[in-house]
Amino acid sequence: MSAATIIRKELSALRVPPNFADYAAERARFSWDAVRRALAEQGAGRVNLGWLAADRHAQGPLGGKPAYRFLSAAGAPRDLSYGELSRLSSRFCNVLRGLGVGRGERLFVLSGRIPELYVAVLGSLKNGSVVSPLFSAFGPEPIATRVNLGGGRVLVTTDELYERKVAKWRDRMPTLEHVLLVAAEGGATNVPGTLDLATLMDAAADDCEVAPTGAEDMALLHFTSGTTGTPKGAVHVHGAVATHWATGKYALDLHPDDVFWCTADPGWVTGTSYGIVAPLLHGVTSIVDREEFDAERWYGILRDQDVSVWYTAPTAIRMLMKAGAEIPRKYGFPRLRFIASVGEPLNPEAVRWGQEVLGLPIHDNWWQTETGGIMIANTPAFDIRPGSMGRPLPGIEAAIVKRNEDGSIAFVEAPDTEGELALKAGWPSMFRGYLHNEERYRKCFAGPDDAWYLTGDLAKRDADGYYWFVGRADDVIKSAGHLIGPFEVESALMEHPAVAEAGVIGKPDPVVGEVVKAFVSLKQGFVDGEALRKELLGHARKRLGAAVAPKEIAVLASLPRTRSGKIMRRLLKARELGLPEGDLSTLEAGG
Ligand code: AMP
Repeated sequence: MSAATIIRKELSALRVPPNFADYAAERARFSWDAVRRALAEQGAGRVNLGWLAADRHAQGPLGGKPAYRFLSAAGAPRDLSYGELSRLSSRFCNVLRGLGVGRGERLFVLSGRIPELYVAVLGSLKNGSVVSPLFSAFGPEPIATRVNLGGGRVLVTTDELYERKVAKWRDRMPTLEHVLLVAAEGGATNVPGTLDLATLMDAAADDCEVAPTGAEDMALLHFTSGTTGTPKGAVHVHGAVATHWATGKYALDLHPDDVFWCTADPGWVTGTSYGIVAPLLHGVTSIVDREEFDAERWYGILRDQDVSVWYTAPTAIRMLMKAGAEIPRKYGFPRLRFIASVGEPLNPEAVRWGQEVLGLPIHDNWWQTETGGIMIANTPAFDIRPGSMGRPLPGIEAAIVKRNEDGSIAFVEAPDTEGELALKAGWPSMFRGYLHNEERYRKCFAGPDDAWYLTGDLAKRDADGYYWFVGRADDVIKSAGHLIGPFEVESALMEHPAVAEAGVIGKPDPVVGEVVKAFVSLKQGFVDGEALRKELLGHARKRLGAAVAPKEIAVLASLPRTRSGKIMRRLLKARELGLPEGDLSTLEAGG
């Protein structure tokens, strides 16, 4: 990288002294134990994410400070103070207790960004129940699959989403006992087989005894997609809070007076770790917008809400870039001081666009569902190499490795050499397993004493220790920042009577990173045509929801398979993109 393209930072030019100013010294002095001690206010051996996030500040001077400001197009902003959040989440905890829902039992949440969701997540954690967020743009099939895999006993959702996505599938979710509904239009709900959440909340007491959970107790279950099979439930524990706090400090540079806006939906891990937990731990005010992306609206929020730290995603930034520079020029963002982004590769032009149009570069950072928190980041004080994800945070050791045939790994020391990104196991928010799939979990670890977690991402490290994303080592698709498992999409297509085989790939897209493209072959008696392709897309959309369903479909006479019968997605992709087909030695004859 030429020196000219590096974005230089001057400490003296930063408006607020950064929390992380000396890379080597801070890493050397950092210890997870010190962070754990700083958060150990609950007494010996007790750690509860819900208490630390919702209650810790409620009794002190921050009790009246807004924890959240909820925005919607329809009404005035609604603030929820730390004190109210504590009381309401205690009520929710009592609602669960009234229903006999106890520690370790699983609760799913499926809703847009409404206050009840945040209250339910924190109240469940205080109850010691395990929370699993579902994305509200999922269709009925991904919802049912996850609830069943997780053994969900409770679902919190809205009347509207329930009618549209759950009611007809309810009998396919045998573990689901209680459905708690929020009325989309306010007031009470009256839907057979469900309970009205507002009525239960009204009757519940304002305080609760927080469950005596320990650091290793399960707190959150985040589903993530792999190449094959059903989604994997990544298990996260209450002790993850130490990472949420440390990364809020180092990667997001949160200071007490910040107004923080994390645009990620709480249906995904970023929206939980950084839309809920980390900002509350730091006692800042978070903005939550109920509406979908709209460039003008977003610039308006940045300015009118005095957002100072903004955590967003490459797809959103590319959509803002597409909307043009005139709109932001009309606005101006005097309070904005730090912008970070995660979830997909952030192209260098986007980093520089931030600098030119918003007056601040975009700081890329990297992590994934399994890591529970940010691991590698660009932060306010350090130079940015546009296109790089930054450097490992304090408490995080990263490496580039190659897997050997015998399952061992070799460390790649030479700079700028591609390999798999690995992390030294042991940071507090590391996942503790894939639910019911110990073997798959074990496979993620290698090296001496299995001390290294292999991330499944390919990357390079340059001579100065900056990491550069290269691609995924597997076939999962990232579309608009959401991880999509091709198997889940293929399975839904296979359920259509016309489909004989299905293979699904991510096709590069300039705005959303990748779009889902499906290839199918047809059963005898069915003929390709626009009407059939439309029907197949419609079928997939109905089952999977807009977030997961393919946007494009092609019909082939047959799909390329390996001799062992597996569909060769890589070959489908290479052919789609006109790239070299690579090693075809395992291709079945005629493929
Ligand atoms: P998820 O588990 O859904 O959060 O997705 C995690 C995956 O998203 C990672 O394994 C990467 O493949 C990708 N990802 C996350 N952050 C970045 C980034 N900054 N640059 C490139 N890819 C990223």
